[in-house]
Amino acid sequence: MVSLYLKIIFALLSLVPFLFSCGDIQQKEAKRTVNSNNHHSASAISDRGDDDAEPNDSEPPDEATDHLNNHPVDPTPEQNSVPTVDVPEGPVPQIDFTRYHSQEDISAYLKSVAKAFPKMIQFHTLGKSTEGREIDYISMSKSIPGTVPTLYLNGTHHGDEWSTTEAVLAMINYIIQNLKDPMVSSLLKRYEIFFQPIVNPDGHASTQRENSEGLDLNRDYAFPRRSEADSFKSVETRLVKALLDEKKFSAGIAYHGGTECILWPYGYDWDKTPDDDKMRTIAKMAADAMGFSQYFMSVALYPAEGEHSDYAYMKHRTFSYTFEITNEKIPSESSLAFFMERTVKGTLAFMQGVMAADGGYLTLLPPTEEEVASWGVYHDVWNGGPRRE
Ligand SMILES: [Zn+2]
Repeated sequence: MVSLYLKIIFALLSLVPFLFSCGDIQQKEAKRTVNSNNHHSASAISDRGDDDAEPNDSEPPDEATDHLNNHPVDPTPEQNSVPTVDVPEGPVPQIDFTRYHSQEDISAYLKSVAKAFPKMIQFHTLGKSTEGREIDYISMSKSIPGTVPTLYLNGTHHGDEWSTTEAVLAMINYIIQNLKDPMVSSLLKRYEIFFQPIVNPDGHASTQRENSEGLDLNRDYAFPRRSEADSFKSVETRLVKALLDEKKFSAGIAYHGGTECILWPYGYDWDKTPDDDKMRTIAKMAADAMGFSQYFMSVALYPAEGEHSDYAYMKHRTFSYTFEITNEKIPSESSLAFFMERTVKGTLAFMQGVMAADGGYLTLLPPTEEEVASWGVYHDVWNGGPRRE
């Protein structure tokens, strides 16, 4: 009889990993990962915000932060909500990650999701690339555009990093398939999210890092030691700059490929920002969710001048990250679904951290001695080695 009970208990325990793979509890998993990290006993999200996926609107943050002041969160997002957006007008578009998508596929997909959710999603064309390819993006929110802070996800600054375009598509797909998830619902009420799968369509078409004029777009932005007049040589970065300057994003991710780590500003030098502890804490949340051990200020990987993330932070104090999501820039199609699921988990954890920071309830995790030591080791490994991807 006892052995029967044991068998039942083991059978139940064996189901636990499958339970935790379910999308509707991914946000809880992200929190759990933060709570169970090796280096810190404290949760990155304070107890006040931890039990409820949606922060309590009747309880304002104890202290307004500089970042909060820069990017105010509407205290009454419910009033701005657009009703009935949970119900698509027609079937919800499907996309899978068993293969890479062409630019024609991607444009059709973006248009189809905007058509399916006309109150919640808008399709836009940012402009045309050097060779005349359209650069498309969508914006998505359950609140009225312009009344809430903004987030920005983009891919393929470097044309040979195809996994990063798929990452943006994977986030769109996850969100529209999980609109009733409390984390997703909260995100869409509190933010307007911008998704741009391809920054460099000419490079994407020819599978080359640079744009068609040979410019490395992620070295083309202004940064604290280079003026805007001396930067933005490419059409493509000028278009992104226009969007950054108009929307003044609260936070964002530029996905890259070629290694696996989470990076935050600055990248041009060891110039620590006043938001470093917050950005490190959010980076750790994302890294833990993705199973990454490497997360550091961007310069620790390798100094790089003219990065997207440095400009967005310098100009608008955007919590602007570089997620290096795959060691191979174009992983095999058979592995793509795995990498996309992992990137979605990391991005959701990131967004949860950003919500906590903007809401004033992010508990900071200062760096451990091991982390500080690892920056030097990693820097030495890369110093003089291959350039940053
Ligand atoms: Zn890259």
